Amino acid sequence: METEVVSSYFPPTSNQTKKKCKNLSDDFLNLVDELNNSLEQFRLPATIHCVYNPTVYARVPYEMYIKKYCNCKKRIMYFGMNPGPWGMSQTGVPFGEVDSVKNWLQIQGPVDKPPQEIAARPVSGFKCPRTEVSGKRFWGLFKTICGTPDKFFQSSFVYNYLPQQWLKNNGCNLTPGDFKSSEMEELYGICDPIFSKTIELYEVDIIIAVGKFCQSRAQKVLRKYFPSSHIQVLYMPHPSPRAVNNNDWDKKAMIFLENHNLLQALELASEALNAQEVPVGCVFTTNGQIIAESRNCVNATKNPTRHAEINCIDSVLEYCTLNNIEYRTYFKNIVVYVTVEPCIMCAAALNNLNVREVIYGAANDRFGGRTVLDVSNFYRQTYLLSGNLLADDAMSLLKQFYKGCNPNAPDPKMKKEKSQ
Ligand SMILES: [Zn+2]
Repeated sequence: METEVVSSYFPPTSNQTKKKCKNLSDDFLNLVDELNNSLEQFRLPATIHCVYNPTVYARVPYEMYIKKYCNCKKRIMYFGMNPGPWGMSQTGVPFGEVDSVKNWLQIQGPVDKPPQEIAARPVSGFKCPRTEVSGKRFWGLFKTICGTPDKFFQSSFVYNYLPQQWLKNNGCNLTPGDFKSSEMEELYGICDPIFSKTIELYEVDIIIAVGKFCQSRAQKVLRKYFPSSHIQVLYMPHPSPRAVNNNDWDKKAMIFLENHNLLQALELASEALNAQEVPVGCVFTTNGQIIAESRNCVNATKNPTRHAEINCIDSVLEYCTLNNIEYRTYFKNIVVYVTVEPCIMCAAALNNLNVREVIYGAANDRFGGRTVLDVSNFYRQTYLLSGNLLADDAMSLLKQFYKGCNPNAPDPKMKKEKSQ
């Protein structure tokens, strides 16, 4: 969770561009296209009969993964080799075991067929009945550690060296690691530069090579492209069940992460599992256009004033400062939509700023700035207020939260004290 609140809806100005995170996911997708174009020139080894490239035929879920989870700088790159037959080759997502992708990463979409398909290795997308053990283990571990995907992707992402799966005519899977290094020089010449650009793009500090092939590739690329950098390469055993002696991969991986202080790097102290925030979301609009949006990040920032409305206010104030706009005039045109009636603090702030109108979902009978204490009594001018819109939906969200979908969430009574 970023503490800096900048709306993505304002057009960037020269002042702002530096501060704003640029659109990393689009830049990355361009790199992937560049890689795929170059790979068309690559002469495949004679034993390879057919190539599956899920970044092409599973483009929809692949892009969802990149845009949803790979759009900010990443300190840590988990570096894999290439798609597995029942994982990424089906879903387009690295280590993409169907169940983890659908139910944990919450990604799903249409998947086409590769231009040539081998009957023994059908591509059935999210209907694939088989489980990719590597993917199940990989995402399963981070689900256990992080609870929610956001927590993992705050610092980390997964990148594959080659977006292709190679198959023999009997459907057998071959990887670049199955060939002699000398036979793969041409492939390295194509994939290394894109790998290095990806490291640069996301400003990666630590590469966690998943498997030996990736470890040696990462070391070579760093020596060649970043000879004087401090980027580290760490080796983590591959979760594949085919690897010898790999039944307790989860345990080994956990020890590895602990030994390298990576649990800490993921900001996963014991409170991490309680990271779910009170589900209050808010958008500010002017003339029907959304100009700011946010949600509560009280727990993530450990700052009890970080309510959705306050985050949006900050974002608008910053915009006004950067563009020399008189904020009082600007706020007069703002209509606020928020899932739950603003609390006393937020209601006071919105009144003070003189927004035009506030429209909320469920009433807030614990801290509401009208229901509990009508703050408009303290202000001469007051905004138009309407509520109980889609109240049931908003309320069921809140109830779900307090019921605690997270088994490690604190006692609901304690939560109540913290919430709006
Ligand atoms: Zn509030």
